[in-house]
Amino acid sequence: MSIVKTKNLIYEYLRRDEDGNVEGVNRAVDDVSLGVRRGEFIAIVGHNGSGKSTLAKHMNAILQPTRGTVWVDGIDTSQEEQVWAVRQRAGMVFQNPDNQIIGQLVEEDVGFGPENLGVPTEEIWKRVEESLRAVGMYQYRSHSPNRLSGGQKQRVSIAGVLAMRPQCIVLDEPTAMLDPSGRKEVIRAVRELNSREKVTVILITHYMEEVIHADHVYVMDRGRVAMEGTPREIFSRVEELQKLRLDVPQVTLLAHELQQRGILLPQGILTTEELVTALKSCEWPHGKSETGGVQADEEAQYGIDH
Ligand code: ADP
Ligand code: MG
Repeated sequence: MSIVKTKNLIYEYLRRDEDGNVEGVNRAVDDVSLGVRRGEFIAIVGHNGSGKSTLAKHMNAILQPTRGTVWVDGIDTSQEEQVWAVRQRAGMVFQNPDNQIIGQLVEEDVGFGPENLGVPTEEIWKRVEESLRAVGMYQYRSHSPNRLSGGQKQRVSIAGVLAMRPQCIVLDEPTAMLDPSGRKEVIRAVRELNSREKVTVILITHYMEEVIHADHVYVMDRGRVAMEGTPREIFSRVEELQKLRLDVPQVTLLAHELQQRGILLPQGILTTEELVTALKSCEWPHGKSETGGVQADEEAQYGIDH
């Protein structure tokens, strides 16, 4: 059974005039059907305004569908009395860590969630310790969150969600406000949660490098799923991604350009190592010397005469 499932999900924001009368609708999610299996690592990408956050908010019952259905662990999220049951199963991490941290001390902050769920004190401490260890922040347990870096704060937010023992964690651009090292810390922590703790991960991001480890990728455009597949399948479709105004990892782009110059490389190269290995064993364009192939092609393309 899927842990998160949407069927023909439509969500419309109502536009109101100054008097509060509805003057139009803005369809932010337009007929999305998807299923996330337990233990999977899913990535959702798409340019600004494509409906990613609106979709994510349905996965923890912050929003209810205008039409269609969303189930979390089999629970229909439109049942009002089930809102907390849904939120306990699917935790949510947002972009700005400063808006999510409320405790004076790291361990206190992480304990708030289970405390609100009525978890007994001894169990709370156990969960706080486990969650902080899972994101590599245990040594900061008695620090003030204000003093932490962005990446550390975001890992504390993730620990706070983990302490509620969710089966699934939805992260809405958790690295958007972080510097490159903070981004790496957070992504490393998220990947470990998925591989070691078996937490299902739904990661929304616009950094394509963060997508390459996902089991499955959804590309959103104008509220719809425009493309889906494994990272390799998605990144094989460079032109389509560019049409959707999305970046492609640099190494994938380089491989794509080499392919276009006639070098036979496999589709959807994702890492530098893969490219190096592929280049060592690939066939070079017919009739060109190994070293002269690309250059000769380039000269032909730009009409360079000797
Ligand atoms: P993304 O997260 O991909 O940037 P969003 O889900 O935030 O996309 O937005 C999808 C569309 O819904 C956009 O056109 C956006 O302007 C609109 N939208 C988002 N939030 C609101 C809101 N609270 N009220 C009205 N329109 C909204
Ligand atoms: Mg968003």
